[in-house]
Amino acid sequence: MEQKKIDLKNCPWCNQNDLEKELNLKDYFLTFEDFQILKCNSCGLLFTSPKPTQDCIGAYYQSENYLSHQDAKKSFTATLFNAVKKRNTKLKYKVAVKNKNTGHHLDIGCGIGDFLFYTQEKGWDVSGIEVADSARKIAEKKIGKQILLPDQILELGDQSFDLITMWHVLEHVADLHSQIENLYRLLKPNGRLVIALPNFKSWDAQHYKSYWAAYDVPRHLYHFDRETIVNVISNNSIRLEKIVPMKWDAFYVSLLSEQHKKSKLAYPKAFINGLRSNFNAKRTGEYSSLIYIFSKSS
Ligand SMILES: [Zn+2]
Repeated sequence: MEQKKIDLKNCPWCNQNDLEKELNLKDYFLTFEDFQILKCNSCGLLFTSPKPTQDCIGAYYQSENYLSHQDAKKSFTATLFNAVKKRNTKLKYKVAVKNKNTGHHLDIGCGIGDFLFYTQEKGWDVSGIEVADSARKIAEKKIGKQILLPDQILELGDQSFDLITMWHVLEHVADLHSQIENLYRLLKPNGRLVIALPNFKSWDAQHYKSYWAAYDVPRHLYHFDRETIVNVISNNSIRLEKIVPMKWDAFYVSLLSEQHKKSKLAYPKAFINGLRSNFNAKRTGEYSSLIYIFSKSS
């Protein structure tokens, strides 16, 4: 059944209406419905249109295959995903935590809680937010405390977190403005905000075009590059500190993209294209996924 969607006539960030079409593509992951990626000529943001209504968005996540929400190891791709995730957890911690201090950590879109569990083990006082019921329950078991629903972010106290992380989550949130207001509100002075996002300027994105798996429409509502994320997040007190690549994502995203294309020899092709993407990014900085570390002034 086709879900209810709204054609966007204005930019979801700056509300201007000078838009142009970047790409026609499909939801290759689940519904095979058609979508477009539009570009706002005022602020540069790329976004998905039509946008599913809040009532219907859940239907686009209803798949046993939505890997970030499962713990079981079934297919080879899932096994690979889980192996990469384990390695990534260590890398994420190293990147997110400066000077190995502990404090209060909030992981927004914590999924099944692997990263929270890791920071908790390292001595952090952790809180998590997750929309998916099944993932939330797994996370609660893992860390032994309640995980909040997205609306409950309002219940969290002002300036209560030293570290807020969003691993491939900001591109999913329905209301970008209110989400970012909450991030500003929750972060302590000297706190860090860590946001990981796919990068459509990467070699693999340019290579796979509409098949690039990290467009992941309509689940990804926005498509950021370095310029637009800094534009959206930075203000007088929050500044970009550094950008760190997630090199594994080039391989994984290439593999999913090959699968979208139904190509033969998906694995060797994805491996080669992952290498090409990372090699190219050595020069340009445009890796398949990037971690942006913002810090709040004291
Ligand atoms: Zn705009």
